[in-house]
Amino acid sequence: MRLTKTVGEYLLGFGALQQVDRLLPKSTRQSGERVYLIDHFFYDGSLLPRLPLLKKDRVLYIDTTDEPTTEQVDAITAQLRSDAPPQAILGIGGGSTMDIAKAVSNLLSNGGSAADYQGWDLVKVPGVFKVGVPTISGTGAEASRTCVMMNHAENLKLGMNSDHTLFDRVILDPELTATVPRNQYFFTGMDTYIHCIESLAGRYRHALADAFSHQALAVCREIFLSGNMQSDEYREKLMIASFLGGSAIGNSLVGLIHPFSAGLSMVLHTHHCVGNCIVLNAMDEFYPREVEEFRRMQESQRVALPRGLCQGLADSQYRALYEATIIHEKPLANALGDDFRSILTFDKVAEIFRRM
Ligand code: NAD
Ligand code: ZN
Repeated sequence: MRLTKTVGEYLLGFGALQQVDRLLPKSTRQSGERVYLIDHFFYDGSLLPRLPLLKKDRVLYIDTTDEPTTEQVDAITAQLRSDAPPQAILGIGGGSTMDIAKAVSNLLSNGGSAADYQGWDLVKVPGVFKVGVPTISGTGAEASRTCVMMNHAENLKLGMNSDHTLFDRVILDPELTATVPRNQYFFTGMDTYIHCIESLAGRYRHALADAFSHQALAVCREIFLSGNMQSDEYREKLMIASFLGGSAIGNSLVGLIHPFSAGLSMVLHTHHCVGNCIVLNAMDEFYPREVEEFRRMQESQRVALPRGLCQGLADSQYRALYEATIIHEKPLANALGDDFRSILTFDKVAEIFRRM
């Protein structure tokens, strides 16, 4: 039985970002030394009037064209180490920016490089006080105890799984997701749906995680089977579903979809959320009801999936996809049992990838 920690304090509602000062440690309200890591979509400065910027505060825009790497986290940490250490870090963006904020916060207090902490419970001391502010909903990064990074030297995609990775506080302001492009909104939102179906279909279960997952799924169904998934009401609801999904996953494990999607990401550089949707669409034999429901949601929202991603690849690429998938033993065993390799042979895995 594991002692469970979740994000305990959060502010929810339209315009919540304007009250960010309430969530920051009192000691920083006059002196500053807060670092705002903001997704590059907001590079035009449109968010700055809503932030209580002080003289010593720093703003860095995060390039999220590609998903976070250990090198990128190390470079940002080095930049911040070269100056007075910040007293608080705010990650304002999607899963990529929030994960970078979590990783940088841990590194500033623990020393070393990002790759040293990829794994389970390797972070020794709490990071710098950190606040998460999602600007797109679905990954649950605002609520989870991990921050995912690609490590190209080791050919793996893995997070710092630790209680110290949790944000201290979170701001859920649905105003911030109004500008998300339609397809991206759907793909990232579906990450919540996928976390929950994988968790509920697994062997490693936890009653509270199940309750979070059931509720998050009910909200996802309401949103994605509706006529307008991006209405004000549904944007607020999706923020809550994402938070619940992220809280669920801290006490459970994903299943088959995330390992295959990690394979796509390592070998073909496919982004996490669209990759998950592509994989789910090829998983009829493992998640039949969910695949059927996913396709109905996709039709309701008129969102098309990229096709033909894995057709006609070289043998070496199918081999690389297999290796980058099968390495994720925990979730694969959660889905299929310890003997998962007898089901997921190379031929079987390659056949599934060919369907994408
Ligand atoms: P993202 O952060 O990668 O951003 C995707 C795109 O959306 C970017 O182009 C970004 O500029 C844009 N964007 C963000 N907010 C916007 C807004 N308000 N308006 C317009 N554009 C906006 O997206 P994501 O799908 O949220 O995150 C994916 C990342 O999250 C992956 O790196 C994945 O590994 C990680 N992840 C983390 C966890 C976790 O628990 N830590 C869980 C799942 C996924
Ligand atoms: Zn995910």
